[in-house]
Amino acid sequence: MVAHWSLLELASIKAADDEIRCWHGNLEKLPHSWGTYDAVFLGHSPAMAFSASTLFESVISRCRTGARVVINQSRGNDFLAPYRELYPHILLRDLPELEELQSMINNLPLDFISFQSDSSAYLVALEVNESPSETPKEVNYEDIGDFPLYASAKVVTGFGRGSKQMGVPTANLDPEELPKEVRELPKGVYFGWVQVRGEGLDAGVHKMVMNIGNRPTFADSDATTVEVHILHDYEGDFYGKDAAIVVLGFIRPEMKFSSLDALVTRIGEDIKKARSSLEEEVLKSYQTDRFFRM
Ligand code: ADP
Ligand code: MG
Repeated sequence: MVAHWSLLELASIKAADDEIRCWHGNLEKLPHSWGTYDAVFLGHSPAMAFSASTLFESVISRCRTGARVVINQSRGNDFLAPYRELYPHILLRDLPELEELQSMINNLPLDFISFQSDSSAYLVALEVNESPSETPKEVNYEDIGDFPLYASAKVVTGFGRGSKQMGVPTANLDPEELPKEVRELPKGVYFGWVQVRGEGLDAGVHKMVMNIGNRPTFADSDATTVEVHILHDYEGDFYGKDAAIVVLGFIRPEMKFSSLDALVTRIGEDIKKARSSLEEEVLKSYQTDRFFRM
């Protein structure tokens, strides 16, 4: 996976290997659902117009504990010198020497593994010793935008919260079958299209709202639940069948409600929002996506 601010750079990477996922823009805008990383190569970014805290903090938040952060530039600062003259507003400084780098990462959960800075290379390896991505943190919901997400999983039994009695049955999807990108979406309500696959079942592609949450009253409270309420009347239950989903957008974060009435009202609004959003031309086009079996 490559994040870069130059479309030209990304295009040449894509041309060499189309399987590589590319992100255009600044690292701190990279959706968290694209992580978590075992190793990040920063190239000469620490010489550029980023503040050290913006750069390292956004990297660390996307890494697992124990991940390596590498700063690498062949021929080191000698290589950068002519470019610093050409682009002084982009290349603000030399790559930091040991002491300077130490002070840059002083308050961050990073350990030194190795340091080299000479005319053959600048090569620094750091290790993330405690990833904040593994501790709950505030989510910037503006940043959720990594759609569409495709997935399919078996419909399993939920835990009888009485969703059906509330008029909103939710088909619970087996989290183990779901890709990380879906399972690890921030808790909240999403919308998209779904197709339930099984003999004798309605094979239509229908609108859905999806809730990502967990079981707060259980000991395994970080166990994620993914539930889909389909905006269609089925003849009966379809436990054990596969549901194929394409998730297209985010509606709202998880919320606490003061009463069941308030919750039901809000679900009604979520459904309305999903219904109308999915009428927009681009989002509607996914109803006939090749992913669904016609
Ligand atoms: P559970 O706690 O087992 O998930 P629910 O009360 O949430 O029970 O009901 C979900 C079940 O209802 C689904 O697994 C599915 O078999 C059935 N069902 C019928 N119609 C729908 C629908 N429109 N959307 C979601 N599930 C539905
Ligand atoms: Mg359910």
